[in-house]
Amino acid sequence: MAFKSQTFKDPLLSRVVAKISRYIRATKLGVAYFRWAHRGERSFECPICGYHGPFVTLSAVYGERLYAECPQCGALERHRLLSLVLDDVAKGFSFQGKAILHFAPEAFFRRRFMALTKNYRTSDLVMMGVDMRADLSDLAIDDSSVDVLFASYILQYIKDDLLAMREIRRVLRPGGFSVLPVTIVSDETVEYPEPNLDESGGHVRAPGMDYFDRFCEIFSRVDLYRSSSYSERFQTYVYEDRSQWPTKEMPLRRPSVGVRHEEIVPICWR
Ligand SMILES: [Zn+2]
Repeated sequence: MAFKSQTFKDPLLSRVVAKISRYIRATKLGVAYFRWAHRGERSFECPICGYHGPFVTLSAVYGERLYAECPQCGALERHRLLSLVLDDVAKGFSFQGKAILHFAPEAFFRRRFMALTKNYRTSDLVMMGVDMRADLSDLAIDDSSVDVLFASYILQYIKDDLLAMREIRRVLRPGGFSVLPVTIVSDETVEYPEPNLDESGGHVRAPGMDYFDRFCEIFSRVDLYRSSSYSERFQTYVYEDRSQWPTKEMPLRRPSVGVRHEEIVPICWR
C-alpha cells in the first residue's frame, strides 16, 4: 500500500516499484483465487476499481483478517466503505470545483478528487509527492477556505484531538464538511499516556463508540455511516479476533466479543 500511495522523483525507482507492485498484486490475486476455489470462499465486488471476485485474506494478530483486501487496487475494508460513503454524500453535495484538502492521500481517492476539481491539495508530514506539510492542529490556511477536508484514520495519532477538530472547523466553509474516521475498537475510548509505536507507528488512544461525542462538541452535525448500511457484496467489515486483547504490543486495548466488526465513517459538517 505504501508503494502505491507514493510517487518517486527517480524514474528508474518508479519503474522498479511499479514492477514489484504488479508482482505483488498478481501473487495476491493468485492466492485469493486458490482459496476461493479450494476453500469455497465468497466472491465480492470492489466499489473503487470494479473488480469482481475473491478478496485477499490478511494475517491478523490472532487468526485471519478475512476478505480484507481487493487484489486489484489494494483497497481495504475501510477504503471500500469510504468510497461508498462518498457516493452517498455526493447525492446531496456537489464536489465539482470545490476546494478539497486531502491528508495522507490514498491514491484511489486522490484520483477521484482530482477528476472533480482543480482546487485540490494534498498534505502529509512525511509522504513524498504532496502539496504541503500541514499539521492538522495548526493549519496555515485561511478561515472558511476549504469545502471538503478528508483526513481518514489520522486523529488517532493526535494527542490534542479537540484542538485539531477546532482547527478543521475553522478552515471549513459554511456548508462544508470533513471526513474523519478513526479505528473504533471498543465501547469506551482509552487514552494512552504516550504514543504506542507498536500500533501502526504511534496511536495515542484506542477510540471507542463514545469517541463520536467529541465530534458532536465541535461540529454542527455529524452523520455516521456504517458497514451495515451497505450491501454485503462490498465487504466493509473488519474480521478480527479482539477477544485476546490486551496484548504485549497493545497493552491498553480492551477485549471485545465477536470476530466481525463494523467500520464507521463520520461526516462532520461545519
Ligand atoms: Zn479494488
